[in-house]
Amino acid sequence: KEPTDINALADEYLRLAYHGLRAKDKSFNTELETNFDTNLPKAKVIPQDIGRVLLNLFTNAFYTTHQKQKTSSIEYKPLVSVTTSFNENRVEIVVKDNGSGIPKAIKNKIMQPFFTTKPTGEGTGLGLSLSYDIVKAHDGELKVETIEGEGSTFIISLPLNI
Ligand code: ADP
Ligand code: MG
Repeated sequence: KEPTDINALADEYLRLAYHGLRAKDKSFNTELETNFDTNLPKAKVIPQDIGRVLLNLFTNAFYTTHQKQKTSSIEYKPLVSVTTSFNENRVEIVVKDNGSGIPKAIKNKIMQPFFTTKPTGEGTGLGLSLSYDIVKAHDGELKVETIEGEGSTFIISLPLNI
C-alpha cells in the first residue's frame, strides 16, 4: 500500500473507461460530472487494486446509462457523477448514475462472483465481487443504494490511517 491521490486515480480510470466505451461505440455520450474535493488527503491503498474497483464501478455506471439511452422512448439524458470527500477517518468515493437501477430481487446477488445480467461477451459478473474483496482487504466498505428505474449510487469508503 502507498499514499495515493484518489482524485488523480479516479480521473485516470474515468478517462480510461470513458474513452474505451467511446472507441467501441460512437453513440456513447453519457454526461460525466466530477466533484472532486481538492483538499482530499492521500489514502494508503494499493493503487492498481483500487483502480480496478473504480474502473469497474465507472464501467457499470456508463453501461447502464448508455443502455437506457438506447432503449428509452422518452426524453432521457444519461448522467454519471463521481464525487470524492473525506472526514477525519475516511475517504469516500461516490459513483452515481441515472441508469436502470437494480431490482430488489437481484440486489443481494450483484456482489456474488459470476452474477451478471449482461449478454454473453459483455460481462463476466466478476467486477463487483472482486471490487468487494479488494475494498474489504483495505478495511473499507462498498455499499449500494438503488431505486429501480431511477438509478444507483455506489459508495466506497476507505480508512485514512496516515
Ligand atoms: P458485470 O458488469 O460483468 O455484469 P459486475 O459484478 O460488475 O459484473 O455487476 C454485476 C451485475 O450487477 C450487473 O450485471 C448488473 O446486473 C448489476 N449492476 C452493477 N452495477 C450496476 C449499475 N450501476 N446499474 C444497474 N445495475 C448494475
Ligand atoms: Mg462490471
